[in-house]
Amino acid sequence: MILLVEDDARIASFIAKGLKAEGYAVAVAPDTATAMGVMEARGADLDLVLLDLGLPDGDGMGVLRAWRAQRLRHPVIILTARDDLASKVAGLDAGATDYVTKPFSFDELLARIRAALRSVDQAVSTELVVGDLRLDLLSKVAWRGGRRIELAHREWALLELFMRSPNQILSRTQILNRVWEYDFDPGSNVVDVYVSYLRRKLNHPGLIPLLETVRGAGYRLVASGGERG
Ligand code: CA
Repeated sequence: MILLVEDDARIASFIAKGLKAEGYAVAVAPDTATAMGVMEARGADLDLVLLDLGLPDGDGMGVLRAWRAQRLRHPVIILTARDDLASKVAGLDAGATDYVTKPFSFDELLARIRAALRSVDQAVSTELVVGDLRLDLLSKVAWRGGRRIELAHREWALLELFMRSPNQILSRTQILNRVWEYDFDPGSNVVDVYVSYLRRKLNHPGLIPLLETVRGAGYRLVASGGERG
């Protein structure tokens, strides 16, 4: 659902009609208080916000700052008549995803909405999740049980490989090939050493040990709730 924050009833109705015709569900808020209320009550249903700045009970910029301070990450496109550079910079710095000035072309607005929604999809897909383990592929940081785990480059590559094939046994040769790009076994114990580094970082008392040695075969990442043995 798109939340449209707009006090001009004529503009609000024009945009809402156009969005509905494109298949979007729309909620309209005519002032900042209603916008804050809708976000609080239905934030999980909101995919994107179109935010006017000049509103009867305050400034849309304040609403945006309040949401970002609450760590709400919904894409917000500011839609305003304020077309000066300072306002644009202030809007983007306050956490707006995009800034569109009135008068605007409806086709362009639709394209910007699609772009904003697409960037959310991409952001979501840059994360791998297996059980209680989460790996952010952009920052190369892992999280387990609310704990942040910094990873060196090879550790990260090794963990990514395991997380892309949970519960599958990976042989040392497969791991060497994928993480170190060796197509032969250099006869070193580098894989075992890095698995032990990862274990030290991922496993803590009270948590299920994640990286299992499968004797004579290799290693596997045990997904929580998966079979162990
Ligand atoms: Ca207005």
